[in-house]
Amino acid sequence: MKLARSLHTRAAKTNALVYTPPTPPPARPGPLSGTRVAVKDNICTRDMPTTCSSEMLRDFTSPFDATVVSLLRAAGAQIVGKANCDEFGMGSLNVHSIHGPVLNPWVPRDEHEHAPRSAGGSSGGSAAAVAAGLCDVALGTDTGGSVRLPAAYCGVVGLKPSYGLLSRWGVVSYSDSLDCVGVLARSVADVHKVFATLNHHDPRDPTSLPPSIRQRARSAPARGRDPSDLRGLTIGIPQEYFPAELPALPLRPLLRALRARGAALVPVSLPSTRFALSAYYVIASAEAGSSLGRFDGVRYGKHVPPPPGADRAKASQVYAHSRTKGFGREVRKRVLLGTYALSADAFDNYFLQAQRVRRLIKADFDRVFLKPNPLRGSPSRSDEREEEGKVDVLLHPSAMRTAPPLPAPSPATHLDAYVQDTLTTPASLAGLPALSVPAGLADGWPVGVSVVGQWGDEEGVLGVGRVVE
Ligand code: GLN
Repeated sequence: MKLARSLHTRAAKTNALVYTPPTPPPARPGPLSGTRVAVKDNICTRDMPTTCSSEMLRDFTSPFDATVVSLLRAAGAQIVGKANCDEFGMGSLNVHSIHGPVLNPWVPRDEHEHAPRSAGGSSGGSAAAVAAGLCDVALGTDTGGSVRLPAAYCGVVGLKPSYGLLSRWGVVSYSDSLDCVGVLARSVADVHKVFATLNHHDPRDPTSLPPSIRQRARSAPARGRDPSDLRGLTIGIPQEYFPAELPALPLRPLLRALRARGAALVPVSLPSTRFALSAYYVIASAEAGSSLGRFDGVRYGKHVPPPPGADRAKASQVYAHSRTKGFGREVRKRVLLGTYALSADAFDNYFLQAQRVRRLIKADFDRVFLKPNPLRGSPSRSDEREEEGKVDVLLHPSAMRTAPPLPAPSPATHLDAYVQDTLTTPASLAGLPALSVPAGLADGWPVGVSVVGQWGDEEGVLGVGRVVE
């Protein structure tokens, strides 16, 4: 649903862009020529710092561009700035940043003075920059919802592609098995164009899927119709994504419109969803503890010498001081939590258990989608036989609420921030494509709905997204 953005957004004081290039980016001919792109500050650019919003990397400028940035430049896009984010991508409200919080640029109609609200996180700067018109498109990263949540809060479109499609070479790792580069823009068509530009195998990224698997996803049996024509399309409404805590959302007109376009709407159940949030935070924190091990103040990151009196010759003292000063509170918390989950005492109960839940979540999705999962190889006979109750895509609210107010919740309510991710983490754990599209307003603030598809079915997801917007 198109929102009248130009009337209701303001660019000033969003704190969305934290660096701009020293020289104006050259205009190059190409399919994206004239497109202004902001890049999340955890994606390497050679002409601007890449700080990940962390003291640890305050002085870091990469000697190279990430593959996704090189592809954008080669297609003629202009990289106009680095976007604020939560430190190393950890957060849901974009408040954990050395650059300060990002303010949601949305101004509700008839409400000129309102308490500042969060732009969402962790790609809050990317979403706010797009919403405020500071750029046409922005790159973010989405590990557990960091593109979809801020897109929903700021009233823009945000795509988390299937895991392994867009290169992560030059993207600073948070959680290697979950991190995806995502795309934000004001229309599904713009997201689609940029996604298509970036959707290539990259031999420099070991998790980038090879052409053979991409081909399998493309040739998975489609139902032979134009994706924007909804006749014959079955959309699943997963009941677990409408928990009791969810406030009433204005989704009825959208559902009616989808039916009027010929789609069949059917309720489905994904029973393991309720364990997704806990499993996500165990896995993401465990992987973060390992990815961030490289920032020790010696090989990488800010070097903080131990204070007088400490044993300065001991490397562990340098590590401890550098990491204590270099990482913010939220990052330190995740590293400790993750390290604990991987320790001998906790491994079985936490890490292995979370991996089991992850498998159940994947199985839930595979059970409801008509398309077989191309990552599972050829479909079994039983997959082919049972079409009853299966769906092309799923549709659910992107977030548990509209943009929450700033300043950040007190430490006692930090759990509230984690709960924001309840509806986005399942698709992340399963590596599926998920698109958040603006779908109206609640109390004057944008509401997003997410379209989720089988692995590799970006075309199906974007096709339904076009009808929703
Ligand atoms: N809010 C989630 C977290 O803090 C997701 C972050 C993300 O997707 N980068 O882990």
